[in-house]
Amino acid sequence: MNEQPYSPLLNELREAFSPDEFSFDFEKYSKDETQEETHKPSLIVIPKDSKKIKTLIRIATKYNVVITPRGAGTGTTGGALPTHGGICLSFENLSKIIDLDPMNRTIVVEPGVITKTIQTESEKINLFYPPDPASLAICSIGGNVAENAGGPRAIKYGVTGDYVLGLKGYYMNGESFSYGGKVVKDVSGYDLKKLLVGSEGTLAIITEITLRLIPKPIENQLLVIEFKTLKTALKSLALISKHGLRPCSAEFIDKQCIAIAKTLKTPFIGIKNITGYLIYFDFDGDSKKNVSTQAIQCIDLIQQYNPLSSQLINTPLEQENWWSFRRSMSTLLKTYAKSKVSHDIVVPISNLPSTMDAIQNLSTKKITVLGYGHLGDGNIHVNVLNINANESDWKIAITNISEKLFRLALDQAGSLTGEHGIGLTKKRFLSWQFSETDISIMKQIKRAFDPKGLLNPGKIFD
Ligand SMILES: Cc1cc2nc3c(=O)[nH]c(=O)nc-3n(C[C@H](O)[C@H](O)[C@H](O)COP(=O)(O)OP(=O)(O)OC[C@H]3O[C@@H](n4cnc5c(N)ncnc54)[C@H](O)[C@@H]3O)c2cc1C
Repeated sequence: MNEQPYSPLLNELREAFSPDEFSFDFEKYSKDETQEETHKPSLIVIPKDSKKIKTLIRIATKYNVVITPRGAGTGTTGGALPTHGGICLSFENLSKIIDLDPMNRTIVVEPGVITKTIQTESEKINLFYPPDPASLAICSIGGNVAENAGGPRAIKYGVTGDYVLGLKGYYMNGESFSYGGKVVKDVSGYDLKKLLVGSEGTLAIITEITLRLIPKPIENQLLVIEFKTLKTALKSLALISKHGLRPCSAEFIDKQCIAIAKTLKTPFIGIKNITGYLIYFDFDGDSKKNVSTQAIQCIDLIQQYNPLSSQLINTPLEQENWWSFRRSMSTLLKTYAKSKVSHDIVVPISNLPSTMDAIQNLSTKKITVLGYGHLGDGNIHVNVLNINANESDWKIAITNISEKLFRLALDQAGSLTGEHGIGLTKKRFLSWQFSETDISIMKQIKRAFDPKGLLNPGKIFD
């Protein structure tokens, strides 16, 4: 670090924070899970007490230094990357469960708590926190709130924002805020809590989150169905929904993804004989009988689409193996390709077949474009894989393909992103989806929260 211009600021920070609340691992904090983006912070602060963030804001504001909040750094659109240098504010040390309340069915947590821990702790008292991003074992709840993260269970239970009852934190003028709390209903004033959910760390710093929990479903049954054609695979959800079936997850995996996974050394034994398109249907309910009745009815209905195979996945171990395969998809494709860029467009479910057809047509000899994702909510993880293009061809291709993809999403009445956010990497496309007036209102909101533009600048828009 070049200490010179930062010396007075550093001295003040050293007075406020103990030595173990700083990190010098600049490499780690220069990256997140966004491909091909590296931005180095000038300072890394990892507070152990959220109250110290007020001091951090005061000092940063005094010296006009930007602050970039960072959760677990699993974001894929560069939200946590310190593009303007300055202070990386990491929440790793703020990882306490403050309160787990069975009476109100709530959990109050600090932002650095890993999402899976919230699920595990809630389930110990038969409560359930449904949002389940594939990264749940490594991402933090603060990042989930900032991105409004989703996951396979969104089809039945919704996304992170549907569970946020209360938020506490700091505005960029150093004042604290407290929105909502343990109340289930609250219509006082504008819903600032909802505004912060999905604000990608650009409006305010979140230090405490109150989440709604629900009773834990007692049983579940996973069903894995293999289809010969993509069209029948993608139509299967509409078919079973018409007959009243309501899975808690409906996921799809392109057969090309499976073919690629089969070339790699993996522990996913179930995929050995799969040659078609996979659909996962997971059913949950209050008894074994209830969930197996739904699964059997689903298998019966699907017969009219001539599936290549249908498997009831019965043991928790086998279920975990199949889910782990689905959750590992991004990593498997990354291992396979020379390089990879992924986007997460979303379209109305009815437009999935036409959108997926068009996505497949984006592939070239040297670049493969494929998709998998959430059939239940139309959110496609489009992966662009560099198979054997050279660096300059790859750079040109990735720009062309991304542009075509985002046009496609909007032409199909969809959106640029279903869960990963705009961040750094998609901001130049924002004006394709929103009018000048829309964006101007967004910028006015940003200015109202952060008049000096010191919180995570350069994200969503410039
Ligand atoms: C393998 C893999 C699978 C994934 N699967 C999914 C998925 O299924 N669904 C999904 O939605 N996403 C998924 N993601 C993306 C990522 O995990 C999510 O966006 C997640 O919510 C990011 O959390 P994080 O703690 O890593 O946040 P970070 O990446 O560190 O930060 C994300 C954003 O949150 C802001 N932020 C973090 N904490 C705070 C805070 N306390 N106050 C204010 N702003 C804050 C940051 O400034 C940044 O803009 C996946 C990523 C990977 C690598």
